[in-house]
Amino acid sequence: MKKRKIAIISIVVALTILISSMAFQATLDENKLQNEIESKNQENEEIITIFQGNENYLKTTGDGVVRFDTEEYMIGEQSLEISTKGDRIPEIVRITDISPPIDFRGKFLKAWLKISDRSAVDLLRITVSSDNFETSKNFWIHQRASSPTAKSFQDNKWSPITISLTQTTGTTDLSKINAIEIKLKDKGKRPVSTWFNSLSLVDNNSKGIVTFTFDDAVGTQFTNAVPILSKYNYSATTFVPTEWVGRNARLSIDQLKEMQDVYGWDVSSHTRNHIDLKKNKNKDALENELIKSKEFLIEHGFEKGAEHFAYPFGNFDNDLSMEIIKKHYKTARIVRGDIETLPVADPYRLRPIYVLSYTPPELVLDRIDKAIENGDWAILVFHGIVDKNANDVQGKYLKSSFQKIVDGVYKKNVDVMTVSEVYNEFIETKS
Ligand SMILES: [Zn+2]
Repeated sequence: MKKRKIAIISIVVALTILISSMAFQATLDENKLQNEIESKNQENEEIITIFQGNENYLKTTGDGVVRFDTEEYMIGEQSLEISTKGDRIPEIVRITDISPPIDFRGKFLKAWLKISDRSAVDLLRITVSSDNFETSKNFWIHQRASSPTAKSFQDNKWSPITISLTQTTGTTDLSKINAIEIKLKDKGKRPVSTWFNSLSLVDNNSKGIVTFTFDDAVGTQFTNAVPILSKYNYSATTFVPTEWVGRNARLSIDQLKEMQDVYGWDVSSHTRNHIDLKKNKNKDALENELIKSKEFLIEHGFEKGAEHFAYPFGNFDNDLSMEIIKKHYKTARIVRGDIETLPVADPYRLRPIYVLSYTPPELVLDRIDKAIENGDWAILVFHGIVDKNANDVQGKYLKSSFQKIVDGVYKKNVDVMTVSEVYNEFIETKS
């Protein structure tokens, strides 16, 4: 009697699951899926996969978990979860026999993904191959200590990431990619999980652009950087903590006016007092720093740059400040990120090359060469430009080295634009 009852319940449960899953599939129609993809991606994107399980998958190594996760997803009804066990053993997943093969030339790779804990990741990359991994090209998302790309997103949040050919190593025939591999390895301290929900290709629609940006309203930006840049009619963007304006060794209102009105610079926001947005969780304080600095710029006639922002210390990881910034600004630049793509991955996490006092000009120029080759946006970050003794870690850059970079940029005949100019030409119409 009891057994029979259980059996009936089981059948009812099974039927209910079957019916509800059918109903669920019926609502997840092609149009809905298409809308989801379009809302997360741009119109000129070519989707490679959204990880709904229609592809040929192969798990090649690893003791962790590789599975479709039907609870964590943002497109369709599942994502691909890859999790390690915290033992440094890599998880490798391959999508094989892609037919017809995909042409990766002149494009960059975009992924929507989520990482549980970036600090636990030793290596995360996407590798593509035209010949079953005899040859291959690695698109780096995260690599040990030097992880510029992964620095640009938050833990445990779905984020778009774009990876330019500039950020790749290896060679394969990019005109006919028929296999893709994702590799995740932890540092041996804690397990880490990643979820992938889409891979796509985006056309490079620029010839490469260079943007000079300067932080912290350092006075030598006017005395040293302006003369060097203006020789070639180059303008730049200066991000100023507005309360610092007019202080000792900082830019004055008159200097800022001349930089904008005579030399075409953007004067943009870097908060009022250079506060750490990651540490500060008080809504009133954040609004005061973020909104009042923009108001200051508008009141003083700096409308051109007033809607663009740079995070002090590069710290953006705070939902509350992010919400205010998205409401009041059009772009926001972080500090370390290496290279940005056009279209950008996220206008509120623009990724620049951080030029430190010891960064050789040759290294910066080499990155700019790659930006031209691959259609990237090379945003450079400087602070002060000094005549000598540029021996602190981040605040100063030697004038003679700066001169070398600017002369080198001129010889390359690459477009130099301010942040607001790039926004108006490449970002505004795409968002
Ligand atoms: Zn700063």
